[in-house]
Amino acid sequence: MRDTEKHGSGQTVVYAPGVRREVAAFVDAVDAKRVLVLSTAQQSDLGMECVEALGTRAVGLFAKAVMHTPVEVTQEALAHLHSVAADCVVSVGGGSTIGLGKALALRHPLHHIAVPTTYAGSECTPILGQTEEGKKTTLSDPKLRPASVLYDPELVATLPREMTVTSALNAMAHAVEALYARDRTALSDAMAMEGLTAFHTALPHVVHTPDDLQAREDTQRGTWACGTVLGQVGMALHHKLCHTLGGSFGLPHAQTHAIILPHATASNAKAAATALAPVARLFGGSDPGQALWDFAARLDAPLALRDLGLQKNDIERVVTLATQNPYWNPRPVTADGVRALLERAWAGAPPNA
Ligand code: NAD
Repeated sequence: MRDTEKHGSGQTVVYAPGVRREVAAFVDAVDAKRVLVLSTAQQSDLGMECVEALGTRAVGLFAKAVMHTPVEVTQEALAHLHSVAADCVVSVGGGSTIGLGKALALRHPLHHIAVPTTYAGSECTPILGQTEEGKKTTLSDPKLRPASVLYDPELVATLPREMTVTSALNAMAHAVEALYARDRTALSDAMAMEGLTAFHTALPHVVHTPDDLQAREDTQRGTWACGTVLGQVGMALHHKLCHTLGGSFGLPHAQTHAIILPHATASNAKAAATALAPVARLFGGSDPGQALWDFAARLDAPLALRDLGLQKNDIERVVTLATQNPYWNPRPVTADGVRALLERAWAGAPPNA
């Protein structure tokens, strides 16, 4: 089996081109016998490739993972898991597919091996968001963190350009909020900056040379660092706004994070000046929010919530939902502050316009 990295959380992590084809060795290492592969419908070919790589260990493919982990899909997958007597799942895909693997691990003891194909970072955390009757709730349990993560740079090399950029900004948002988290530590600060530095260097490179596997691996190392701090410290305004926009307005996950990040950062820039100073230094300039907005704009990231389908008259409802339950943020959260932020993000204006 390949050289692996064993992390403090007990997670086994490996980075290697083509490692998805060696998934059987990781199944054998945890002594699992019957593997159900999980994917979305869009990635069922990749799911089937994984089934073939597993040979006789595979007991099938469940290719119905969707965004926000609806409980009814989990129930269907669980019934399937029981019917084939699986003792292991391999989730091959983005945060939606890995989320389904976690939702199954919550309900039934099993081994979970994640093969990520985006930069969202769910594979690094013990967190699960689930949707039931239109309401998204989040829980955390150490047993939800997949035991093994196989980062195969060939899988992110096929991400379309926009998904590459938005998914990377999604990962970076975990690190930026970790830097000003109330429960941050020297270790989480170091890991957050490691993740941001990896994306700052490698993301422009992979946008111009999508199949550079070394640079793609560097972005995956950034993902691991950013995803791990997401699981270590509390998030604030940025994640609250994205949760509201995704959960209640159906906006797409990665694009929403990409648009909100510079605005949430700018909004906290004064209150968290010391914590965010390294972000401004890394991305250039004195204002971390503007520096991130310029970085995103240079990479042609989406900049306006209106382009994702949010109506201008939805803003007031977002303000209400995002301010109704108090939560900690470096700058106290007010309706006026959130409204001003959302109006700029809706129009695609720079954060300090
Ligand atoms: P996703 O998993 O929903 O994928 C989006 C679409 O892109 C899907 O159709 C998928 O099949 C496709 N796709 C994925 N990888 C691809 C590739 N390499 N090439 C081509 N198409 C590909 O998107 P996501 O942004 O990775 O995940 C979002 C979900 O993950 C949300 O539900 C979010 O809440 C959750 N999430 C959870 C955590 C956590 O810690 N619990 C962390 C981050 C995200």
